Formats: sequence, structure tokens, C-alpha cells
Amino acid sequence: LNEKLNAVFRKIKGQARLTEDNIRDAVKQVRLALLEADVNYKVVKKFVSAVQEKALGEEVLKSLTPDQIFIKIVHDEIVEILGGDESEAKIKLNPIPPTKIMLVGLQGSGKTTTAGKLARFFQKNKKDVLLVADDIYRPAAIDQLEVLGKQLKVDVFADREKNDAVTIANDAVKYAKSAAKDVVIIDTAGRLHIDENLMNELINIKNSIQPDEILFVADAMTGQDAVNVAKTFNEMLGITGVILTKLDGDARGGAALSIREVTGKPIKFVGTGEKLDAFEQFYPDRMASRILGMGDIVTLVEMAQDAIEEGEAERLADKIQKKGLDFNDMLQQMKMIKRMGSFESILKLLPGFSGMGQINVDDSQLKRIEAIINSMTPQERTNYKILNASRKRRIARGSGTSVAEVNRLVQQLQQMNKMMKRFKKQFAGKNKLDKNMLKNLFR
Ligand code: GDP
Ligand code: MG
Repeated sequence: LNEKLNAVFRKIKGQARLTEDNIRDAVKQVRLALLEADVNYKVVKKFVSAVQEKALGEEVLKSLTPDQIFIKIVHDEIVEILGGDESEAKIKLNPIPPTKIMLVGLQGSGKTTTAGKLARFFQKNKKDVLLVADDIYRPAAIDQLEVLGKQLKVDVFADREKNDAVTIANDAVKYAKSAAKDVVIIDTAGRLHIDENLMNELINIKNSIQPDEILFVADAMTGQDAVNVAKTFNEMLGITGVILTKLDGDARGGAALSIREVTGKPIKFVGTGEKLDAFEQFYPDRMASRILGMGDIVTLVEMAQDAIEEGEAERLADKIQKKGLDFNDMLQQMKMIKRMGSFESILKLLPGFSGMGQINVDDSQLKRIEAIINSMTPQERTNYKILNASRKRRIARGSGTSVAEVNRLVQQLQQMNKMMKRFKKQFAGKNKLDKNMLKNLFR
């Protein structure tokens, strides 16, 4: 348990500097992770060199940041590629209704299902929606949309007589205007593979109705294939965004990164199940964590930063510079950790721990440590060197613990001091340890 505790402390604080060696190593792991997550190898290559450059950059080396910073660089880079600006993911409604949305993509990618999901999404935002069955080649496709419409109590426009998708789309928009609909969602036909007839039909619909959005619906499970298809659709049709479906399966979301990078178009929504409510707006942050499969490390870092109040950090920095750490500091740290939430919740955020299920670290361990320190006299707290056998016995009794536990705690403090000494050496030449450096400790 102690070892695990220490490992976590070390991870939170991080003592490694970013050197060329460990960057190379880390980059290797990131590359593997991305490839495993189904990211296009060209995208990986470009990405990895961007990260390496940033990590090797003067800024990072000079500020002596530990390797958690590296993870943050990678994470942030992914978020940026995915479209750091969340407003991009929003669908802008046309000030002159109706807003026309065309869904395109290969057969089976999830267009019809997504049409229903989108309708529900707008419905919840108090918009009056019209669904348009414009996949005229399969009668079952029209039925499928009508079933969804009934389920949602949303109007469905269909015309089984006409066999021209362009005319139907036009008629539907006309009807939507007369019925004062806010949003029109057009479900189009797909093919198993891209073919010219289909593309021409889609282009004709586009030119005829001038949609506000052309959303490419991509099956995340098809990984690399989805990327190539997205590229072609974008080149031929000029899509405005992407909806990634079937993210509830094994897909690790790497396709998101590739599609975004290759098309330059934002991902707007993700489908996470067959049911109509399995649909979410796209958050680059979440997807980045998913792709890296490393728990929410960024949240952890931010929590740690928030937990250190400015004054506290300065006081600690001052102290470390003058003397070493004592038990008062340890108690202080304990309180910071508590403010960050339970120990277990912190562990869950750490890479490697997230998938491990139950971990044998409990908050009661922290309480015992607190009890031990609380049983010390002020003198003992500021100078652990006076802790002899009889004092330790008294403390153990007072805190309801054992001498062995008290010993372990003393050892921990000694170790932390050793670490601090090493840390101080890294700052040789700097004349003052400031709060930013201290914060780096917690990264
Ligand atoms: P279309 O041919 O593009 O219209 O695709 P459909 O909407 O008919 O969907 C094809 C299949 O994928 C159906 O069985 C859907 O239930 C399923 N599907 C669509 N979206 C999702 C999703 O987000 N998750 C899962 N698990 N299945 C989905
Ligand atoms: Mg369909």
C-alpha cells in the first residue's frame, strides 16, 4: 500500500524532467497508442512530430517541467486537432427558417437513425422539426423513418409516387416553409461504396435546396475506411461537419482524429447506441482522453492546481527553501488532497489506474496518517529528528496506531525531503523558489 501511495505521490508531483531521452520514449508510446486507436498513420506521423517539437521546445525545457506536462502537451494537441473551440460543434440555426440539414454517408453508417436522433435533439430545444425521407431506392428506408417520426411525434415528409430525390427534397422544403417548420432534416440514400450516380444525386440536391449543413455520417467502427470515405465526400460535396456513430462499440475514436485532420471539418455529434437518446454533442476534451485511454489526466492536473491556494503555495515554497519539510507540511498536503476529493477518485483519474477496478487505497489510510501527526507535539511536528522510541510509542498510543506505522510515516517524510533536495538542485542558479515552480511539482 505504501508503495502505491508513494507511486501516486510521485506521479502527482512528478520528478522527471523532460529530457530528450524521455521525450523520445514518451513519444514512442503515444505513437503506439494512436495507432492502436485507429488513427491514420499519416496523421500520427504529423501529430507526433508536432508534439516532439513542442516538447523539445525551449519553453518546456527551461521551465523544468516534469513529464506530466508531456501528457498535457499531447492531450492539448489532440484537443486542438479535434477542434478546440466547442462552438464549432454547434449547429447554427438559419435566422430565416427553416434551417436545412442534409445527412449523407454510406449505407449502414447510421443516417436514418441519426436523423431521428437529431430530430429529438432539436425537439428538446423547442424546435418544430420536419424529417424528410429522401432515400427513394429502398421502400423500407421510408418506413424506417416514418416509424421514428411516430415514436417522436415528429412530422415526416415522404412521397412514394415520385422517384426523384431532388424533387422530393424541393417539395419538402416548400412544405416546411408553409408549415413554418424550424428545422428540416433530410435523410438521403447511401451506397455500400462511393459511386458516381449517388454523388451526382447528392450534388443536385445540394444545389437545389442550398442546405445550411451537410453532415457526413460516419461509422466509427470502420476506422480507416471512414477516413477515406469522408475525404471523398468532402471533396465532392463540401460537407460542413461530421457525425460519428457507433462509438458505443469497440471503436476507440481514433477515426475522429483522422477525419477531422483529413477533412478539416468539425465533428458535431456522436452516436453512442441504437436508441434515440444515445446521442451527444461532441466534446474534443472527452474524445482526446478516450483516444489516449488514459483517464482524465487533465482534470487531475487542474484539480491539483486549484487545490493549492496561492498563499499556501508561497508559504510552502518559502519554507522548503529555508528548512526541509516537516510534519506540518505533510498535514497541509493531506488537506490539499482531501480538497481534491477522495483518494480513490484521484487514483481513478490517473493513467493506468482507470481500468484497474478496485484499488486497495482508502481514505481511512489518510485518516490514520492525520491521526498520527495530530498526536505529535508542535515541537515534534517541526523537527522529526527528536522522535525517539518513547515518543513514538506515545504517539502510536495516542493515535490508535502502531509504532511501525509511525516509523513508516517518518520514513516517508525523509524520502520527501530527499526528493525536495533533488528538486532544489534543479533550481540551482534560480535565486527564488516561486509558486509556479511549486505548482510544477504537482503536475
Ligand atoms: P443508414 O443506412 O445510414 O440509414 O443507417 P441506419 O440508420 O439504418 O443504421 C444502420 C444500423 O446501425 C442500424 O442497425 C442502427 O440501429 C445502427 N446504429 C446507428 N447508429 C448507431 C449507434 O450510434 N450505435 C449503435 N450501436 N448502432 C447504431
Ligand atoms: Mg437509411
